[in-house]
Amino acid sequence: MENKPESGKQYALTGGSGEACIANGNSWAESEVPFVPGNIIKDLGGEHVIIGMGSCGLCNRRLYGYEDCPYPDPRGALGDNTASVFVSEDYNMEGPDVTVCWDCSNNNGAETYNLALSLAKNQWESKVQS
Ligand SMILES: [Zn+2]
Repeated sequence: MENKPESGKQYALTGGSGEACIANGNSWAESEVPFVPGNIIKDLGGEHVIIGMGSCGLCNRRLYGYEDCPYPDPRGALGDNTASVFVSEDYNMEGPDVTVCWDCSNNNGAETYNLALSLAKNQWESKVQS
């Protein structure tokens, strides 16, 4: 695959440390910005304002949601870039929410789902019984 920008697509030229962008040495494909936070998009249930939801802890894909619905239906306009969240409470643990892409949490079968869950659990602590 050729490493060059395609017309009509947006790319991140700069970014923070660890973020996929040209300045950090990522390829054009890796630096593509598929959705722009603040833009309005038509999706299931009408129009929504796009918000950034960080990036997938496994594949580094950029994650998005809507201002009125941070975790929308992945069959909608955001597709595989829909954020999917692991909440520590669901596993009787304590820690920050861990977001991964819909693809990693669902579409690749148990392998990436289990990876995503162990990634999350590594950041959590068991609840202390009081
Ligand atoms: Zn992913």
